[in-house]
Amino acid sequence: MTPADRLTEAEAAAELARLAAEIARHDRLYHEQDTPGISDAEYDALRRRNDAIEARFPALVRADSPSRRVGAQPASGFAKLRHRVPMLSLDNAFAPEDFAEFCRRARRFLNLKDEPLAFVAEPKIDGLSISLTYENGEFQRGATRGDGLEGEDVTANLRTIAAVPKRLAGAAPALIEIRGEVFMSKTDFLALNAAQQAAGQKLFANPRNAAAGSLRQLDPAITAARPLSLFAYAMGEASAPVAATHWEWLERLAGWGFTVNPLSRRLSGEAEAAGFQAEIGAARAGLPYDIDGVVYKIDDLALQSRLGFVGRAPRWAIAWKFPAEQATTLLLDIAIQVGRTGALTPVAQLQPVNVGGVLVTRATLHNADEIARLDVRIGDTVLLQRAGDVIPQIVAVDRSRRPEGAAPYAFPDHCPVCGSLAARAPGEVVLRCTGGLTCPAQTEERLIHFVSRGAFDIEGLGEKTIREFHAEGLATTEGETFHLRGPADIFRLPAHEAAIAVREGWGALSAANLTRAIRARQRIPLARFIYALGIRRIGEANAKLLARHYASFANWRAQMLAAVQIGSEARSDLGNILGIGPAIAEELAEFFAEPRNVATLDELAALLQIEDAEAPAAAAGALAGKVVVFTGTLQTMARPEAKALAEKLGARVTETVSRKTDLVVLGADAGSKARRAAELGVRTVTEQEWRDLAGLPAQA
Ligand SMILES: [Zn+2]
Repeated sequence: MTPADRLTEAEAAAELARLAAEIARHDRLYHEQDTPGISDAEYDALRRRNDAIEARFPALVRADSPSRRVGAQPASGFAKLRHRVPMLSLDNAFAPEDFAEFCRRARRFLNLKDEPLAFVAEPKIDGLSISLTYENGEFQRGATRGDGLEGEDVTANLRTIAAVPKRLAGAAPALIEIRGEVFMSKTDFLALNAAQQAAGQKLFANPRNAAAGSLRQLDPAITAARPLSLFAYAMGEASAPVAATHWEWLERLAGWGFTVNPLSRRLSGEAEAAGFQAEIGAARAGLPYDIDGVVYKIDDLALQSRLGFVGRAPRWAIAWKFPAEQATTLLLDIAIQVGRTGALTPVAQLQPVNVGGVLVTRATLHNADEIARLDVRIGDTVLLQRAGDVIPQIVAVDRSRRPEGAAPYAFPDHCPVCGSLAARAPGEVVLRCTGGLTCPAQTEERLIHFVSRGAFDIEGLGEKTIREFHAEGLATTEGETFHLRGPADIFRLPAHEAAIAVREGWGALSAANLTRAIRARQRIPLARFIYALGIRRIGEANAKLLARHYASFANWRAQMLAAVQIGSEARSDLGNILGIGPAIAEELAEFFAEPRNVATLDELAALLQIEDAEAPAAAAGALAGKVVVFTGTLQTMARPEAKALAEKLGARVTETVSRKTDLVVLGADAGSKARRAAELGVRTVTEQEWRDLAGLPAQA
């Protein structure tokens, strides 16, 4: 990467555009989906690079620059709540020089000479910032930070947190906004993840994401069940002055019943900061919660108000971050984990090493690209980093210590769990197991999808039951255990009705009802059947398109097997279905390229009656069943409208002219497709003739 100070103006503009998109993407992952894509250190590096380039080229600062935003827009699902005083973020310091520079700037701004500048230092909790509004001492509402100007209204959820006082103890201004950090302790986080894992739910990457995910629940009952804590530290709007210094403010907060971080300390001058930083850094690993630095705030509120804000950050506070914790160790092996959606994730198996007080034996390698980028090989000495995140990462390889004969890592092209082909979808970095229907790593999720609403929709067979039958199995009369291992097993459940009836919460009636519901679904429309297979990118809409196009299961199966061959007529026909396209065609081809999937399909087909798709609703249209190609520029309507019209009239619109084409509509400057139509003797019409066919009025 070219350093910021050596970029040309054009390169800088391109780089700022890239960074804006990249940072926005990570903001969304972090704030809306609570699943960070990169470590905090990497994220900070992106922001710093953006800042450095903007500092050099102020004219290139974009309207959507990350430096103008804090975090992400509030996610849907919550009402928005506007902060009376914006909730801004802090500038970061990474080294003593950064902190010294911050102090110099503040002194220059305030025209201070040698008088000491008092600070309050507070450990920077890795949690979720929130704002709490109290009116006449009563908790009224609370919001997440959101984009800094407005956040999500999480009042109901905040009410469930014991550390949020419902009423302030003692006298308070009529209106006061209190800011703090909701967080989860390290122990509570590990316990929550263990429970999530046992329930087959998504795991949280770190305590911060667990806290955010727990607070941002649409159902407050879920929040109530999660162990969340709160440290209060900052002031938003206040209808009357409450303190002259930040330290006094913290004392007021404690008096009102809030928990203030007991490690916070008043420093009489900036010279004490480095010592405090070292002290907290040493205590960090042993703290019950995650911190990623120390926040230093100028104590005097009058000085704070004079200093004000620049951009998105106050001039009177700075977050001095800890360096990422690093260590070197040996890479013993690379294991491939298969996730519930079939994603193959490489995990480094390491010689155990202590990183910042935590014994690390495994690290994520993300994906095949990351392994190739690092060129990491088994036996290598690697640099490991733990930056707030619970899952450490490998950041560099020491090539000088590479053992002789270490070979580049060959990423498997088969699933290590089930042996099916592993493939990479176009535009994606992750390899996925294509044996979704049979792969034990994916079975539960696939089965849950299989019986879901738009698929087989079997009454009485929900997610919970599927998980139970899959994990625990059913005791058969032969003294064996019947497990749900694949979709066909669902139709074998009626044979075990007696075993179901004796299960807790069931009984003879429920079991009989389940049998009836399963049998009722043994007749299934083709579209639902295709959707139930859970092929990537084949949602309900695409399943319907496929069903309509291929009409019968037998035809679809035969055409898909033929389409496995790249360049085959079947593949091009598939890719030409309007709404399918080449990328989805590839997913289908990959599914059918795996013999285990075809075997499962056939096993199912033997148990089911798959109904042919109904002819399209517009079969009676003027172009019913015709294959139409548009080429050249149409003068009276845009191509998408022309396509939609043709389909409404019962036609199928494709991109290429073949022997199967019935009609080619020639616009202006029609080129090779017109010639091809002539060669094949396919009927061609002018735009006006097409309008006549479609029953449209003539154009002047
Ligand atoms: Zn697999």
